[in-house]
Amino acid sequence: MSSDLSYREIPFFNYRKAFVHYEEEFVEIFRDVLHRGAYILQKDLEEFEAHLCDFLGVKHAFGVGNGTDALTIALLAADLKPGDEVLFPSHTMVASAGAIVYAGGVPVPVDIGPDHMMDAADLERAITDKTRAIMPVQLNGRTCNMDAIQAVADKHGLFIVEDAAQALGSQFKGKCAGTFGAAGTFSFYPAKVLGCLGDGGGVVTNDDRVADRICMLRDHGRLHDAEIRTWGMNSRLDNLQAALLDFQLRTYESTMQRRREIAAMYEERLGDLPEVVLPPGPSDDPNHYDVYQNYEIEAERRDDLREFLKANGIGTIIQWSGKAVHQWPGLGFDVHLPKTEVFFTRCMMLPMNMVLSNEDVEYICSKILAFYGK
Ligand SMILES: *Cc1c(COP(=O)(O)O)cnc(C)c1O
Repeated sequence: MSSDLSYREIPFFNYRKAFVHYEEEFVEIFRDVLHRGAYILQKDLEEFEAHLCDFLGVKHAFGVGNGTDALTIALLAADLKPGDEVLFPSHTMVASAGAIVYAGGVPVPVDIGPDHMMDAADLERAITDKTRAIMPVQLNGRTCNMDAIQAVADKHGLFIVEDAAQALGSQFKGKCAGTFGAAGTFSFYPAKVLGCLGDGGGVVTNDDRVADRICMLRDHGRLHDAEIRTWGMNSRLDNLQAALLDFQLRTYESTMQRRREIAAMYEERLGDLPEVVLPPGPSDDPNHYDVYQNYEIEAERRDDLREFLKANGIGTIIQWSGKAVHQWPGLGFDVHLPKTEVFFTRCMMLPMNMVLSNEDVEYICSKILAFYGK
């Protein structure tokens, strides 16, 4: 084995390098946008929204302040009422549940299935006469089996709002994450697959009525003129950020391809290692097109493995400080989700980003193999 590859530093995510990669183009965009004085709700935002619609095959897209606001706005636009219960998978960022609370709803956590995402089979257990909606989280760049979730939603008359913060371009049966339910949301946080230079988010829908409500909610109750039609918030994606995102969207196909290539390399080198469980490979299941926002594995002796990799210059993380949402005492949940809890004792993330070289991936794999004595 090539475990004698010489030491290299591979941070989990390298924000500086991500900027330097596009430095010239970004500076050119700053100049252009700033010389036009085009900051709020300008043409660069409109163009980005139009391109997002084309890319996703959806009727309406709106840039908003961040992925968390996107969820709150999507839930309110889909007409969530105070006290309505919303089912969400506890294996997610706290933002999924926080947005439900800020939209006036009650977040109800459910367990994960074998794919580590919302378990459609656990949904029925959690449904009460107050349940109004389901929030599947399209985690780590993979889309849930939406047929199974849609079937439960149809049976109980619930609406779906997708948290696709991590899954721009991901598909299930050829349909893009974010386009299945009443509305879907994205985050353009810098470390997301499509990231801006700060906070940013998006909400998409095929429903004209929901679209008007999203539009009004993000901009003080206004539609496309000055008339104040209802109460709204201020959560608009900056025009400058939209311009940066629009530029990166042009090469997004190759971004997705590169991430899938890295996933395939991890699979090829680590796929036979009994001590780890890898995410499904890019060509394992024709129903799924993954964009690999993250590469989350399960590992035996996880904490020792992380220490060993750290000593070898390799940054890894345990997502969300090592706890599922329902496990934070300050949030007041009183529920036991056995599969999620076991998963959090074993999960960790390997580097997965656009500045990784093939040699970096090879180095990471060789160190993991060395740790397990291979
Ligand atoms: C990043 C993320 C969010 C929140 O997005 P922000 O833009 O940081 O507000 C919500 N849900 C999931 C699953 C995320 O990964």
